[in-house]
Amino acid sequence: MAHERECRIPQDLHIHTVYSTGDSAVVPEQTVAFISRVAHARVVGISDHFEFLAGETFARYEAEVRAHNLRVGTEVNGAEWVKEAMMVNADYYIFHCLDRNEDYCGAEDLLSTGKPVIIAHPLVMGTDLYRVPTECFVEINNRYVWRHDWRSLRAHVNRFKFVLGSDAHQPNWLNVSVARYVAEELGIRETILFPNSD
Ligand SMILES: [Zn+2]
Ligand SMILES: [Zn+2]
Repeated sequence: MAHERECRIPQDLHIHTVYSTGDSAVVPEQTVAFISRVAHARVVGISDHFEFLAGETFARYEAEVRAHNLRVGTEVNGAEWVKEAMMVNADYYIFHCLDRNEDYCGAEDLLSTGKPVIIAHPLVMGTDLYRVPTECFVEINNRYVWRHDWRSLRAHVNRFKFVLGSDAHQPNWLNVSVARYVAEELGIRETILFPNSD
């Protein structure tokens, strides 16, 4: 009954799975099927690192993600990967926009596909958001944003549209979505120890 569950977040388009084979923070249990069953968000997109999907793998990845009725994204690591990433049938791009001329051009190139382009964790990449096309979406990244001066994004609040993403390299990244899913599956009712304190 995942689709009737309350408290699901509206959207999460930044999630990694076992397709990110070179990412040491991804665990073998984090399959597309598992993410789909947890259904922690109403709109879920998988966005594995493009460098592990490029070539023949992408078609298999795309087929599996679509088979689970999830959106197909991919996280593109800088200008070097843009041309190849533009050729694949992704629904949207998550882009590592480093602070180099070619990366700002890469953002323009990805936009030219007509697909949404999300600037991933700009505070980590050193992205100068004043050089990013304002047609891009800027990500508030659950994994990283709290480790940086996120107040500096205030200058861009009226310049861009924003999306929230978990950047989940493991299923349990700083939320109880997975625990909530398991408890629900087990028929466990959570005990609230301090119901009236705040
Ligand atoms: Zn990233
Ligand atoms: Zn990521």
